[in-house]
Amino acid sequence: MKLTFYNTASRSKQEFVPMVEGHVSLYCCGPTVYNYAHIGNLRTYIFEDLLRRTLEFNGYKVKHVMNITDVGHMTTDADAGEDKMEVAARRENRSPLEIARFYEEAFFLDTQRLNILRPNTAPRATEHIVQMIELIGRLEQNGLTYQTPEGVYFDTALFENYGKMARLNLSGQRTERDEVISDDSKRNPSDFMLWFLNKPHHLMQWSSPWGPGYPGWHIECSAMSMQYLGETFDIHCGGIDHIPVHHTNEIAQSEGATHHPFVNYWMHGEFLLMNKEKISKSKGGSINTLQSLVDAGYDPMTYRYFCLQAHYRGELNFSLDALDAAASGLRKIYALSEADDPLANKEDEFQAEHKRLLEILNDDLSISQVIGQLHSIGSRRLWLEFDQVLGLQIEEHSRRAEEPLPQSVQDLITLRNTARSNRNWAESDAIRDQIIAMGFDVLDGPQGTQVKRKLLEEAVR
Ligand code: AMP
Ligand code: ZN
Repeated sequence: MKLTFYNTASRSKQEFVPMVEGHVSLYCCGPTVYNYAHIGNLRTYIFEDLLRRTLEFNGYKVKHVMNITDVGHMTTDADAGEDKMEVAARRENRSPLEIARFYEEAFFLDTQRLNILRPNTAPRATEHIVQMIELIGRLEQNGLTYQTPEGVYFDTALFENYGKMARLNLSGQRTERDEVISDDSKRNPSDFMLWFLNKPHHLMQWSSPWGPGYPGWHIECSAMSMQYLGETFDIHCGGIDHIPVHHTNEIAQSEGATHHPFVNYWMHGEFLLMNKEKISKSKGGSINTLQSLVDAGYDPMTYRYFCLQAHYRGELNFSLDALDAAASGLRKIYALSEADDPLANKEDEFQAEHKRLLEILNDDLSISQVIGQLHSIGSRRLWLEFDQVLGLQIEEHSRRAEEPLPQSVQDLITLRNTARSNRNWAESDAIRDQIIAMGFDVLDGPQGTQVKRKLLEEAVR
């Protein structure tokens, strides 16, 4: 079936045609592992997971590569400031490598809890320095670089299409990038660092043809994507903040070296906002990581579902009220029973609905619309089918309801029923609270105490 994606490069929806029939090469910019991912970052990874799952649902074999940035990402996306890894190392009194491995593991724990599929390959920048040096060498040979005491720069004025994807107006450019220029010998405001030199205090250093130093952030993604996916590949993703600087520079470096197109489809996820502001790892209230949501009593699936209810190209406002609403919607999905399925034994209708929903999904990943339709149809079987894309673990959660109650709970039920028949309300209430505290729902029905397993963690506010 036809698949259509909004391509940032053309600013329009285009039919997706992969380079090799049946196969998709997909590169997603990965985390800078200097801190826990914030829930805004995680929104972007949920969008990319939706993309990958949609491709696989359509029968494509996907090769998914996501880098781990463990050196060279400065505190501004342009080159000014300090390496985030080294700032974190000082903050936590650990080596940059310890910081990197610790937060990489934390990142994959978060993505696993959100049921985000692990990339096929997750290359680390520090393990691909050779490829980066080689790529910078090619750019040098093509005459696109110059050297100052600060490092080796890419000369953006010499690359004809610089800023085309982002539609940058370079002549009138007085961007934040100008304001943070720390190097007077830089030729153009938009020139960027390929290899930092003369930074004796930087802990991570490698030797290179230009002298000891470390790579710039942008060259990492060009080197690693080309290493694993080839010099031209199908889809490149990231958050929309990457359009004007990071992805613009990736294109310049890659095409400047190879002289052919780098990426066929650019896809960007919009931001998650908190109180209408951008979330950042350094800024933000007490709730800005997945763990902080879990600590507040939310199941990670609630956050995943919350994100899927919005289109990836629209801003999304985060609030606990919105998260509570998502939890109650999700509880309804988990509570659907096979016995009440309106499409049970209606194979033709099931297939027709399946096709209709897939068409909606394939129109630039309109998963929020699919969710709306699934709610109104109310078919558990159809939800389960689309859970291959939704990734809400519907089967696992709803199966919980059918598991037998532990003996300790059954004993409490017997005690409570006795207390109730003796009209001992105080004891009955106390036992009810005890059962609830053990993580169950308690209802009083005509047959006495009814206890059910919770289908989803509940946040108490
Ligand atoms: P970083 O670890 O800072 O390199 O960011 C990882 C990913 O999260 C990148 O694709 C960013 O574009 C994306 N990102 C950063 N902030 C947000 C946000 N508030 N909402 C959604 N995505 C974001
Ligand atoms: Zn990148």
